[in-house]
Amino acid sequence: MTLEITALDALRSQVAAWRGEGATIGVVPTMGALHRGHLTLVETAKKRCDRVIVSIFVNPTQFGPNEDFSRYPRPLSADLEQLRSVGADAAWLPDVATMYPEGFATSIHVAGISEPLDGQFRPGHFDGVATVVAKLFNQVTPDLAFFGEKDYQQLCLIKRLVNDLNMNIKVVGVPTVRESDGLAMSSRNQYLNANERKTAIQISTAMHTARDAIKSGRDITTTLREATAHLLAQGFRAVDYFDLRDANNLSAVTTYSTGGACRLLVAAHLGTTRLIDNIEV
Ligand code: AMP
Repeated sequence: MTLEITALDALRSQVAAWRGEGATIGVVPTMGALHRGHLTLVETAKKRCDRVIVSIFVNPTQFGPNEDFSRYPRPLSADLEQLRSVGADAAWLPDVATMYPEGFATSIHVAGISEPLDGQFRPGHFDGVATVVAKLFNQVTPDLAFFGEKDYQQLCLIKRLVNDLNMNIKVVGVPTVRESDGLAMSSRNQYLNANERKTAIQISTAMHTARDAIKSGRDITTTLREATAHLLAQGFRAVDYFDLRDANNLSAVTTYSTGGACRLLVAAHLGTTRLIDNIEV
């Protein structure tokens, strides 16, 4: 059974009851519009924790003024059905007034890691993410928290936040779940029309081509420039970044050595949809 919890005191009592049974608790923060990627996080959490709480909250503070907050899909009953199917113990469903009551005045800024890549193209986004995740952690008080590598910069940022603020939570990263053609699953994929959906796979194609080129010693700057040009030629409206970064702190990488873990990260616009993806190099 998946409990549906909408009030903070009910959440706290349920967590206390489970704690009283000696249960370990895992949290999977989401914005809903659940797909196989989210469900894999829940399944991973179920293997590692006695009780799994999935939060669904479309967080207004992580959307920019011209982003898709109002059109973001909110198929709540289908989401709950999916959570039941994978055995989530509870869905935490706060509303905006519960998360941001009148007078709310606090924001968390994680310097450094929040600044490049999406930080540059989505000003304020990561402050919104850090603040809402810190709130979710204080509400749920989990032992473990599960995040997708799909949002790789977010995963790095949450690890930094937990470490810096001495939160007693283990952050677990879960590999990206993809469609059979390689497109990373995303709630935003449903914005794509049939043509855009066909073009979208070029992100993963371009990343794999670039990864192989970089690993075989090709110049990084040239490779990244060619990958960007490829996406634009395939019909992407703009490429915010196609970048190679240190996999731990996301600092820029200009020379590739087999010893250091690197990550290729991409954000590109297809019509009115902004897609992000990344792979290990
Ligand atoms: P979202 O609802 O898009 O904010 O995502 C909630 C969580 O699910 C985040 O930790 C995401 O990184 C993760 N997630 C989203 N898409 C995928 C995917 N395709 N594979 C694995 N995790 C994902």
